[in-house]
Parts: sequence; structure tokens; C-alpha cells
Amino acid sequence: MAKYKIEIDQEQCTGCMACNASCPDNFEMKDDASGMPKAKPKNPDVDELGCAMDAAQVCPVNCIHITEMETGKKLI
Ligand code: SF4
Repeated sequence: MAKYKIEIDQEQCTGCMACNASCPDNFEMKDDASGMPKAKPKNPDVDELGCAMDAAQVCPVNCIHITEMETGKKLI
């Protein structure tokens, strides 16, 4: 099991690309079914957070969530 899980609330994501700009290593933009750009984690299950926490902190609508899997603790 990976140490951390990165999730993005697709309903709340505005497609602003801030996470992608802050952390292109782990966030990419993909159009949803209606053609709206939405952020996706390139790898939702990671052992190292790298820049993912920075990206979560710059999200203007706080829709990036990171969970520590061993404890189930929500880090953001
Ligand atoms: S920063 Fe937040 S709102 Fe903006 S694209 Fe990323 S997940 Fe979506």
C-alpha cells in the first residue's frame, strides 16, 4: 500500500490549473465529458508527496485532498 492517497473533488475543481502549474510532476489537466478542463493526479497513490502538498495548498477552492493511508489521517 502506498503511503499517501491524493484525491481531487471533480465537482469543485474549476480547472484553474494552479495545481498543474505548481506541481506538474503530479497534476495534469484533462477535459471532462462536457469539455471542461479538470485536474487529475498523475499518480494518486504515492510514497513521497514531493510538491503535491504545495499544489493542494495553492488550490483556490481547496478541492485537493491528501490522506495518510496508514493512519487514515486527512492531511489537507
Ligand atoms: S488548483 Fe484546484 S481548482 Fe485549480 S485545477 Fe487544480 S484542483 Fe482544480
